[in-house]
Amino acid sequence: MKLIFLGPPGAGKGTQATGVSSHLRVPHISTGDMFRSAIKNQTPTGLEAKRYMDAGQLVPDSVVIAMVKERLAMPDCENGYLLDGFPRTVEQAEALEKFAAPDAVVDIEVPDEMLVDRLTGRRVCATCSGTFHISKLAEEKLCPVCGGELYQRDDDKPATISNRLNVYHEQTAPLIGYYAGLGRLKRIDGNARPEDVFQNILSSLE
Ligand code: ADP
Ligand code: ZN
Repeated sequence: MKLIFLGPPGAGKGTQATGVSSHLRVPHISTGDMFRSAIKNQTPTGLEAKRYMDAGQLVPDSVVIAMVKERLAMPDCENGYLLDGFPRTVEQAEALEKFAAPDAVVDIEVPDEMLVDRLTGRRVCATCSGTFHISKLAEEKLCPVCGGELYQRDDDKPATISNRLNVYHEQTAPLIGYYAGLGRLKRIDGNARPEDVFQNILSSLE
């Protein structure tokens, strides 16, 4: 199954994608995680991406498209993929149609008012990339899953968050209409308990 998770930053795409990808046995491919690891390893892509990410802007389409195309050509994607964070523009979606068109697009919907709190309270594990909200952490600096070190992403600081939400509304939200027009859109209420969101996603894919 070839699947896309769409939705604003903070909607829970990463959390849900982790569960759904292991349930469906397809690789979870997060372009944000790919860029963060490229930055850590100081690759040319990472160096180019960093200035856009820090500003809450999108990395240029040509860079992202080339990276995803290369990733989807790897053998583990033979039976499908779950893309989290791509496509984010109509141009990216049109490119994807040409090399690996998705079967279904899950749009996780959460109102803007809730996203700001989710993003400012988000912590990420440096080891396993898991994400957690501070309100649910017993120990602020340790990953409850693997014991790795938790940190706050630079782009989860308040100054960058409003930029990211604007970019989402202007550049990514048009994809909802794009995929609805192709008859592949599944709309999911992201303002519910994570386990309920998970069940609703699976039911929508049956
Ligand atoms: P979130 O979903 O929380 O916004 P991601 O981890 O998906 O965060 O992405 C972080 C940043 O990486 C984005 O703000 C953007 O700068 C860059 N990025 C990730 N995916 C894409 C993409 N498909 N196109 C352009 N930029 C991207
Ligand atoms: Zn961890």
